[in-house]
Amino acid sequence: MIKCHTNVRSSRFGGGAMDGIGKELGRFVVTTMEVPWRLAQPRIGAAPAAVLFVENMEIETLERQITAAPECDTVLGIGGGQAIDLGKYLAWKRGLRLVSAPTILSVDAFVTPAAGIRRGHRVEYVGQTSPNPLVIDYDLIRTAPPELNIAGVSDLLSIHTACFDWELAARAGRSEFDFRAGDVAAARAILADTMAKADAIRACSDDGLRAIVEGYMRVNAICLPAGHYRVEEGSEHYLFYELEERLGRPFMHGWIVGLGLHLLSRLQENRHAETVEFMDRVGLRYQPADMQIRAEDLVASLGNLRRYVEGRRDLWWTVINERELTPNWIADAMSGLKF
Ligand SMILES: [Zn+2]
Repeated sequence: MIKCHTNVRSSRFGGGAMDGIGKELGRFVVTTMEVPWRLAQPRIGAAPAAVLFVENMEIETLERQITAAPECDTVLGIGGGQAIDLGKYLAWKRGLRLVSAPTILSVDAFVTPAAGIRRGHRVEYVGQTSPNPLVIDYDLIRTAPPELNIAGVSDLLSIHTACFDWELAARAGRSEFDFRAGDVAAARAILADTMAKADAIRACSDDGLRAIVEGYMRVNAICLPAGHYRVEEGSEHYLFYELEERLGRPFMHGWIVGLGLHLLSRLQENRHAETVEFMDRVGLRYQPADMQIRAEDLVASLGNLRRYVEGRRDLWWTVINERELTPNWIADAMSGLKF
């Protein structure tokens, strides 16, 4: 059981945890998408007052949708990140009870308090919500493709490179926040527990899915009181920011962070081989070929990475600021990847 503080007020884990939940919610509105709704509707045992499908996450669209939504007691968010975020936004704006039921673990929206929305195509995080309960129905989550659920492990593995970056920043006197060794130790314990579940995660067994969800909740228990995600986000994410801007398209979050883990653990000289071996063992996709990233684009991205992070005032001090990505280093690093 989770004893630590997260924003999750209560939780219900188990195969069939969604069965009949609609009967407990009073008058409720569902936020979802077509596929998860088709899978979940027969399980919930009651008819909602309305079903709001995700159109897009632009603020104008969300405002129009919630204005048109009927009076209700509860919002039931069912699906991936956007369906949950629409539910969070509606619950926050109307002050309603939120029940979150992820049908895929590829992103952690279901355990974070703010809703990711877009204002003029820029992502913003707004509001403050707590699922009550968070419903983790393993059978429902296993209806998603396994490689997408496995992608969820990346934002836990990123503790490996992110904590290294924070320690390095603290040593250089460049940490943006008070360095907290206890937070780093607690995050590394999450990483170790996650790695111990590699085979279960690969199989998407109950135990493996639970390890990902609990890992997210434990990360929040560190990061929400601290007010930042320094133990979980660092240089491995910064490569992906550069690539996303360079190529102008989104990526499967867990896979692109996996590519960042491959390259930045190498730059850090931080148990690189072990990191790659673990990603392979757990079945995480991270190869450029999986994301249609061309070799010349990745070379250009790595060559530009320091300039990119220095140009962005909102990014933290990491290995990228300290160790130069020389053409020779880049050539060596590329040899370990598939295009
Ligand atoms: Zn992430």
